Amino acid sequence: MISFDFQQSLRSRQTRKMQNYICSECKKSDIKLWRGYSEELAILRCVDCTCKHEKVKSINENDLKKTDAIKWSVPAVPSRPNSYWGYTSVPENMVQWWNALPLRA
Ligand SMILES: [Zn+2]
Repeated sequence: MISFDFQQSLRSRQTRKMQNYICSECKKSDIKLWRGYSEELAILRCVDCTCKHEKVKSINENDLKKTDAIKWSVPAVPSRPNSYWGYTSVPENMVQWWNALPLRA
């Protein structure tokens, strides 16, 4: 069982450590970021920059309950520095880490 406190410390530890977890376009950090599904070199984008990039209308927390992918962009969940988990292979604790990040700053 992962306790709430563990998640909180995981989140703060990892966001501090993940210094490159920043939207490549508007430079916002400490929020949910997406990456292109097939990009070899991941380009990170926040929700609003991803929607612009994918040419879809703005989404909110409710939309994310249906799917966390935005067209061809999927949640960017770091595995190692500059490397990200495959969309279907993200470990449960990192899914929770990503889910705990705010959608917008
Ligand atoms: Zn952005």
